[in-house]
Formats: sequence, C-alpha cells, structure tokens
Amino acid sequence: MKVPVVKSILAANDQIAQENRQLFDEKGVMAVNIMASPGAGKTSLILRTIERLRDKARIGVIEGDVASSIDADRIAQEGVPVVQINTGGGCHLDANMLRAALPSLNLDELDILFIENVGNLICPANFRLGAHIQAMLASIPEGDDKPYKYPGMYQGVDALVVNKIDLLPYVRFDMERFRKGVAALNPDVAIFEVSCVTGKGVQDWAEWLMQKKDTLLRRG
Ligand code: MG
Ligand code: ZN
Repeated sequence: MKVPVVKSILAANDQIAQENRQLFDEKGVMAVNIMASPGAGKTSLILRTIERLRDKARIGVIEGDVASSIDADRIAQEGVPVVQINTGGGCHLDANMLRAALPSLNLDELDILFIENVGNLICPANFRLGAHIQAMLASIPEGDDKPYKYPGMYQGVDALVVNKIDLLPYVRFDMERFRKGVAALNPDVAIFEVSCVTGKGVQDWAEWLMQKKDTLLRRG
C-alpha cells in the first residue's frame, strides 16, 4: 500500500508545481532551484551570482532551511528581496511550501528567482517546485564518488556547479572520475567549476543563466 500513497503525494505536488510555473511564466520570472548537500555553498553561490548579475537582472531569493534565517539574513544584507521558508524539520522544499512563500515577493519586479533548497542529496530531486532550471551544486570536499552514490540528484538537473575548486590541491578529488560518473547519468548537463572564495568560474555560470533567461523570455 505504500507505493500508491507516495505516488499520489507526488502527483499532488506536481499539480501545484505546474501552477507555480504558470505564475512564473506570467510574471516573466525565471526560477532556479538550487540543490546540494549541506555546506556545499548554496548561499555563497547565490551571493556570488548576485554580485555578477545585479546590474543585469532583478533578483529575488527564497531560502529553504530546516530552521533559522541565517542564510536569508546574509542575502537581505545585499538589499535583495528574500523570503525564508523554515520546513520545521522537513528535509526538502515542496511545491506547496514554495506557493505559500511566493505572495511575500513582488514577482512583477523580478527577472530571476533563486530557490535555495534544503541541504539534502536525496529527496529534493523528487519534489518538483515549478522552477525552470534545476541546478545541482557539488563541492570538492564531498568527494568524487557522489554521482555514483546519489545518482537521482545528478540525473535530472540542467546545470551542475562544482564549488570549492580552490581546495583541489589539498583534497583527494579526481575530477576525471567525477565527470565520468556525471556523464554516465546526465551527458548533456552544463558543468561549471567554480570557487565562491576566489570567484573563479562564477562568471561562466552567471552568463549561462542570463542566456537561459533570455531564451525563456523570448519564448514566453
Ligand atoms: Mg545556505
Ligand atoms: Zn525530504
């Protein structure tokens, strides 16, 4: 009996996700769902991306965390509109939580909405939010075996950002092995090697996002 129950929850979630997407399309907002393990640097990546894009696009952020508003406070310091979702123990965001947060942002005044998912490499992949872009953030200290261990996360994403490349000299991480694992799961994914400490590689990722936004807006 367990399987049908789980399926119906996911179907209800997908319905709401579709409604979220419709709203984003109406408002001309590109939504980017950022998923990663805890500590990979999701908030740092968002901050670095804001630095690069704030003159080119109006950016908003939704922060998903189990508890606290530490990350949202960091974003707010930049003067960027941000809403915190506390899942109260929940290990992922779902479409309904996102829907509940959206009225707190003025979507008419945004071009890009970053949604920082709860740090977790398992279930965020199963819960669609309605975002246009699914982005996965990996980091060097996590190890090069993660695509092999968490294939679900790597399979469905449009972009893969590999953060903390400044640590490559100090950590055992075989980029070739990592990329081979990714290619087997998701050969078309756009990969960006970045360091949110030095800023290296962030520009390529930011430009890729802008291209995606322009394509989406032209289509819509
Ligand atoms: Mg964070
Ligand atoms: Zn979960």
